[in-house]
Amino acid sequence: MMAQIAQLGFCLPGSLVERTSRCGSPSCACHTNPERLHGPYLSWTRKINGKTVTRNLNPTQAERYRPWFDNAKQLRELIAELETLSATVAAQTEGWDNQ
Ligand SMILES: [Zn+2]
Repeated sequence: MMAQIAQLGFCLPGSLVERTSRCGSPSCACHTNPERLHGPYLSWTRKINGKTVTRNLNPTQAERYRPWFDNAKQLRELIAELETLSATVAAQTEGWDNQ
């Protein structure tokens, strides 16, 4: 687990969000047909000092950074595992109920 954490590459905070949208032109097909919505557009959304910051990504950028989001997700899972394990070890060591 520690080795897995050490081997992870870059980890981007926040999330990769995919969305579709309707445009401003009322005659466009996107207003009547859900399959003709524009997009999908990809953006990177994260919180900085409590404020949501969004950066739009073109397909090349999305492809480049998608693994960094996957790494971040894996890191969060590994941290959760490590925390659970650490709590168990501490509880066993001290004879605490592991709650
Ligand atoms: Zn449209």
